[in-house]
Amino acid sequence: MNVEVSENISMITEMIRNFGEKEIKPYMREWDEKQEFPVPLFKKLGELGLMGVLVPQKYGGSGMGYHEYVAVLSEISKIDGSIGLSVAAHNSLCTGHLLQFCSEDQKNNWLPKLATGEWIGAWGLTEPNTGSDAGRMKTVAKKEGSHYIINGTKNFITHGRTGDIAVVIARTGEEGDSHGMTAFAVAKGTPGFTGGRKEDKLGMRASETTEMVFEDCKVPIDNMIGAEGEGFIQSLKVLDGGRISIASLSLGIAQGALEASIQYSKERHQFDKPISSFQGISFKLAEMATKIEAAKLLTNRAADLKNRNEPVSKESAMAKYYASEVAVEVATESVQIFGGYGYTKDFPVEKYYRDAKLCTIGEGTTEIQKMVIGRSILK
Ligand SMILES: Cc1cc2nc3c(=O)[nH]c(=O)nc-3n(C[C@H](O)[C@H](O)[C@H](O)COP(=O)(O)OP(=O)(O)OC[C@H]3O[C@@H](n4cnc5c(N)ncnc54)[C@H](O)[C@@H]3O)c2cc1C
Repeated sequence: MNVEVSENISMITEMIRNFGEKEIKPYMREWDEKQEFPVPLFKKLGELGLMGVLVPQKYGGSGMGYHEYVAVLSEISKIDGSIGLSVAAHNSLCTGHLLQFCSEDQKNNWLPKLATGEWIGAWGLTEPNTGSDAGRMKTVAKKEGSHYIINGTKNFITHGRTGDIAVVIARTGEEGDSHGMTAFAVAKGTPGFTGGRKEDKLGMRASETTEMVFEDCKVPIDNMIGAEGEGFIQSLKVLDGGRISIASLSLGIAQGALEASIQYSKERHQFDKPISSFQGISFKLAEMATKIEAAKLLTNRAADLKNRNEPVSKESAMAKYYASEVAVEVATESVQIFGGYGYTKDFPVEKYYRDAKLCTIGEGTTEIQKMVIGRSILK
């Protein structure tokens, strides 16, 4: 496995760092406080090629590989995790689903708009009563002539209101049948499709999270993605890639928290010494740095397998599980290192602390990752 930082990755991280200084850092506190999803920012990210990182150039994307994708998400999330979350959901979930399972005509219709940031994508699997157990979803799609009629509610959907197009997984067969669900692309403005309630969240507040409501929503059969009955199986494959994105997001948050802590510990004096000179603090920093490095190796291992089109369910679950727990631990320790100041909005670590927790929940909780890993090693 080659995890050396290529010249390409160095250029990408430098570009994001410069972009973030001008376009994210000055506004991120306001977005966080007002829970504002900054749509114009995503258009600019599209111009930089970051809204279609993995999409081949023939569909308007950047045509990069998974190591570059890990770098993109880590670097953005080091600045603002909530922007990282939206970039991840757009690239991995909506765009990723369409890229993997659409026909050539469908790809030509939808991917260029998503890959350039003209459109923002959403992906709806979760429902109010079926999160971890998504296969028991209640949203139904009934075939009527050349259309499907969709009824039901999805919740916790990233860009559920603002998204220009949503991939929606709905039941077309029996409950409990993993081949009883089908994926559809539903454009914003389709009669019967509305974005519902917006969540008021602990962290990741600049990333929009809402319901998507379907009431007799008539979707042409041409918008079905792949074959009828394949939607849930497709989703599991999409999540294999998506989990690498949440691992990368976790790495960015953890790295940001570590760097802030190193700097602060050298500047803050107590007992006439910088607090970094206390072993109690330097040991914390050593543990944080080591765990981040281990999480990076797991994430790049999964990225490497994905680049080579090899099975990756276990490895992406391991990366997501470990990196997200490390992000929470590192962000928690960083608040501790900042002491009382860490508990205020004057320093960045309280935001890392709030944002990090989502990483152990979204795209399958830590417990669900352990189930995936357990099943794989016990079979
Ligand atoms: C900010 C945000 C953005 C999101 N974006 C999207 C999106 O774009 N699209 C989308 O479809 N979904 C999205 N989600 C939904 C997310 O994937 C779910 O919240 C997640 O899968 C967990 O489902 P749940 O919230 O219903 O929790 P539940 O499934 O109710 O779980 C509750 C608790 O029970 C545990 N648990 C459940 N089953 C088991 C079991 N078998 N063994 C042990 N423990 C178990 C869980 O680990 C958890 O601790 C998002 C969520 C958030 C918060």
